[in-house]
Amino acid sequence: MENRWSDKTAQDTIKHYADAGINEDIALRVYTSRLLGNEPRLVLHGGGNTSVKTTAIDISGNNINVLCVKGSGWDLGDIEPAGLPAVRLEPLKKLVTLKSLSDEDMVNVQRCNLLDSSAPNPSVETLLHAFLPHKFVDHTHANAVLALTNQADGEAICRKIFGDRVAYVPYIMPGFDLAKKTEEIFQQYPNCEGMIMLKHGIFSFADDAQLSYQRMIEFVTMAEEHLARAKQKLFPAIKLPAQSANAANIAPIIRGLTATDLGDGKFQRLVLEFRTSPEILNYVNGEEVSRYSQQGTVTPDHSIRTKPKPLVLPTADANNLPAFAENAAAALKQFSNDYHDYFDRQNKRLNNTRTKLDPLPRVILAPGIGLFGLGASSKAAKIAADLAETTVEVITAAESLGPFECISEDETFDMEYWSLEQAKLGKTNEPDFARQVVVVTGGASGIGLATAQAFKAQGAEVAIIDQDAEAADKAAGQLGGIGIGCDVTDRQQLRAAFDTVCQTYGGMDILISNAGAAWQGRIGDVDDETLRKSFELNFFAHQAASQEAVRIMREQKTGGNLLYNTSKQAINPGPDFGPYGLAKAATLFLMRQYALDHGRDGIRSNAVNADRIRSGLLTDDMIASRSKARKLSEHDYLAGNLLGREVTAEDVADCFVALARADKTTGSVMTVDGGNIAASLR
Ligand code: ZN
Repeated sequence: MENRWSDKTAQDTIKHYADAGINEDIALRVYTSRLLGNEPRLVLHGGGNTSVKTTAIDISGNNINVLCVKGSGWDLGDIEPAGLPAVRLEPLKKLVTLKSLSDEDMVNVQRCNLLDSSAPNPSVETLLHAFLPHKFVDHTHANAVLALTNQADGEAICRKIFGDRVAYVPYIMPGFDLAKKTEEIFQQYPNCEGMIMLKHGIFSFADDAQLSYQRMIEFVTMAEEHLARAKQKLFPAIKLPAQSANAANIAPIIRGLTATDLGDGKFQRLVLEFRTSPEILNYVNGEEVSRYSQQGTVTPDHSIRTKPKPLVLPTADANNLPAFAENAAAALKQFSNDYHDYFDRQNKRLNNTRTKLDPLPRVILAPGIGLFGLGASSKAAKIAADLAETTVEVITAAESLGPFECISEDETFDMEYWSLEQAKLGKTNEPDFARQVVVVTGGASGIGLATAQAFKAQGAEVAIIDQDAEAADKAAGQLGGIGIGCDVTDRQQLRAAFDTVCQTYGGMDILISNAGAAWQGRIGDVDDETLRKSFELNFFAHQAASQEAVRIMREQKTGGNLLYNTSKQAINPGPDFGPYGLAKAATLFLMRQYALDHGRDGIRSNAVNADRIRSGLLTDDMIASRSKARKLSEHDYLAGNLLGREVTAEDVADCFVALARADKTTGSVMTVDGGNIAASLR
């Protein structure tokens, strides 16, 4: 592993923070913490922690000793001084004489000794850092060290590699007991340069930042070199179908199976994140995957994000997806039964003090295809997938030495159902469209973009489809979603776009069929080609997108929402707007046909009728010429409605959201035009 220390960057960091009154110790702590945090083979998603012992001035002007240690919610990769809250060191050190200390009391005493009462909670490994005498202490869950220690004889293997340069700490759950045990062992080996935490990770320490970091890199490199001498593990593979299904084929099936039916047509869904690579396929295709993947997590805190075990799916034959769906449902049922049993067994041991979490997997292994991370959001699913990829790397490396073996079931449960984690339950307030995936066609600008933004603001995952791929990417980048370039009148491109949505999020729940363009012509003169072009985009593309969406929704079996941008023209023709209005009128009817034919699938279908919206269809030039022709100011032209107010793309977006919320409304049109009696429905 490369040592990324640079004298120049270290000095620049010191200078940068000196201007803000941050001392050199903390500046260097920030610098090397980031070096560790930006190496995924050392640290992932909030894993690992670091500290520095330094001094600070308290409110009375006294110079006091403090421990600046990683605060919860911060990631080492982008940590700032604010992410290293200062805790009074002397009161922490005194705690070493206690016989025991509950997690809640430990958190409390740490908070009580913060210099800044609004700082985040100091790490649960704070006392371990405090009890060690060195100025700089670095802790990671390095993959290579985990591969060595997650073995029956992990300690013996490590002793051969590291000898007395490090001390060895048996597995104990993080908290006071681990801090106390670590201190005891350190007293026996006061000259050690680091400590191997068996089946958990590694600490390095020193009195200067560079040396502590350098030791971490050196130890991890020694572990990596040892593993490199073993032969890369190639797992004997199971027999796969001649043509395996792909991720886009099976993701909606999985997403549907892992949704929880809340009754009355409502579901609690999960979002998926797909990964594959030769390494992942070697792992998931292995004959023995049900052995090595089911032992438990490679380091204990993964269990909070990934659950102790992944679900292993049956193989998926591309030519027989119904059989796959049936087998996958049975495998999931078995998984959740096993999880209930595990919880009941373990909760009994803890005198029934724990609250059961849902029994659904957060990692799914799909032989022949790859793996999926699952979560309440795309972000959570990505974290689960990252941890799963790390698990694949660690277990594959471990198996090159001997059978992978991790902490026991009791120890795993203690971590997954940690009282500090249980205290957080029920405290998240999810926005209305969290866990739902929205696809917006023509989403890179105007009404489409405003609608994508409105759903995103309500917690939805968003896919923007637009014929301008660059604009789609840009909009999605700003919004936090995916952008897909696609001509919606091309069925193949449309299928590929929906496949990308399934690969990215696992499926979809709401279609905003919005892409459109206005063709004009006096109906008695207009040529066929113009009319047909308009029908391709303003009718057939809506039908094609709806079919793709309905196909996915029916695989998920969790209902869905089709929403169309029709137009005032669909019911109230404007002069010379026949080519546009006729196609839009057909699309309005299409909406009703979907409501009729797919209500039984739980799919709702509704439309928004908007008029005079400043957008791609009604450009600034058009507004200028039309208002001039009517001898009106631009404002009076745009606000020429009963309410006398201009209607914006955001107003139209709000109507789409309102229809998506109205969960017993289908076959309906919502008008948003400020009032136009001639165009009103019924
Ligand atoms: Zn740790």
